[in-house]
Amino acid sequence: MKLPESVPTQLFINGEWRDASGGGQFAVEDPATSEVLAEVADATAADAMAALDAAAEAQESWARTAPRTRAELLRAGFEAITDRAEEFATVMTLEMGKPLAEARGEVAYGAEFLRWFSEEAARIHGRYSPAPDGVQRMLVTKRPVGPSLLITPWNFPLAMATRKSAPALAAGCTMVIKPAALTPLTTLLYTSVMAEAGVPAGVINVIPTRRSGATTEPLFADPRLRKLSFTGSTEVGRVLLRQASDNVLRTSMELGGNAPLLVFDDADLDVAVTGAFNAKLRNGGEACTAANRIYVQAGIAEEFTRRLAERIGSVQVGHGIDDGTQLGPVIDADARERIDGLVRDAVADGSRVLAGGSALDRPGYFYAPTVLADVPAGARVMTEEIFGPVAPVATFATEDEAVALANSTPFGLISYVFTTDLSRSLRLAERIETGMLAVNSGVISNPAAPFGGVKQSGLGREGSAEGIEEYLETVYVGIADPYAR
Ligand code: NAD
Repeated sequence: MKLPESVPTQLFINGEWRDASGGGQFAVEDPATSEVLAEVADATAADAMAALDAAAEAQESWARTAPRTRAELLRAGFEAITDRAEEFATVMTLEMGKPLAEARGEVAYGAEFLRWFSEEAARIHGRYSPAPDGVQRMLVTKRPVGPSLLITPWNFPLAMATRKSAPALAAGCTMVIKPAALTPLTTLLYTSVMAEAGVPAGVINVIPTRRSGATTEPLFADPRLRKLSFTGSTEVGRVLLRQASDNVLRTSMELGGNAPLLVFDDADLDVAVTGAFNAKLRNGGEACTAANRIYVQAGIAEEFTRRLAERIGSVQVGHGIDDGTQLGPVIDADARERIDGLVRDAVADGSRVLAGGSALDRPGYFYAPTVLADVPAGARVMTEEIFGPVAPVATFATEDEAVALANSTPFGLISYVFTTDLSRSLRLAERIETGMLAVNSGVISNPAAPFGGVKQSGLGREGSAEGIEEYLETVYVGIADPYAR
């Protein structure tokens, strides 16, 4: 299937589409066929600097734009994406591989950040109060952080771009967006929609590149850059935090996960199987929120695992564009190789394969939906982020053991619990080290909820009222006693 012609393939700097300096390009593939979809301009460090020049130049006037104007531009973006949902979904399925039904879901989710932050834009408040000694007056106000670098991953090409750019726009920040080289097309289409909606030149700049580090590193040395918002792996996040420390940038870091999913013997088993299926196979398992380790209380483990294997083993695998496809390819050959290595190691460690267990012999990068039972605690598939359609299951005996297993990782993005005991849910919410807890549900992401992790899963929150704070500075104005003359 061909890419819609509306999709831009150039850089977007200072309100203009342009080629990369030096004219370089790189290919974007359809992971379901490995065919080239488009050649995209490959930004250099000089292009990145031109993008920061534009963002810095536009910052003051954008910050002064009436909040209502910013809100209405965001709202116009929401309407435009919603009107063009099918086009966005098609582009996303082609470049990333997810089934069309899931791509449509991401369009709705991604657009919702524009609507949510259009509503937040007009609600940036401060406060005024007398100091406790009754003398000084204290005025506390907010102002935009300033030009921001937004670096996004390949797995949710629209939602990650809107989850960062919408609060930045609402707060009055200009930005340079660097999308992932594997999936830049959706972000470029989104940029064109926002430009058509009327976002002024220089406010949004987009620089796809194949050489991320070399292209963005010089920006960190420039004092005009004030903020980094990054979503991606913890490994790259650490490198960027070090770079951001030179100029003490504000940072928001949405990093890797290793989500535990706990099923207690008082759970409704239908709810738990469906929840585990959704938490594992949403986005083909290529989500930071994907259930990575499934722990089931011993008495129900056999039945739960058999039912989960039946569900996962019978999903329809194919090109995401085709009707009925429930699982597309993984993103590339390296990802498929890495996932296969995790499964082979788990089997060598004594795990039983109840479904799948190998790559599929067809064009593109497909891996069979897989369920593993009796997986030992130390297996790599339990300690590393799988990022694919593989569900490893192990058992536990007591709640204390389940909590210890859940917390036995440096990560803490999201955790899932299945139980009908409300007190137990609340206890777990207090005991599990996690930024988000899903109770009896496999999917809880919502633009109105604070998304983010603890421990090495990140810093800061996206979405919700917290999301806009990431792009605002607090300024305190101390005023002398107004009665002293
Ligand atoms: P990645 O860390 O390889 O890349 C993320 C982004 O950083 C890409 O745009 C990439 O080009 C860029 N990048 C890589 N090295 C860079 C460098 N030296 N300087 C500047 N930019 C650089 O991650 P990925 O493979 O694209 O995404 C998968 C990872 O993202 C997983 O670990 C997943 O858990 C995480 N993720 C987290 C969240 C969250 O909200 N916590 C959401 C989605 C994905």
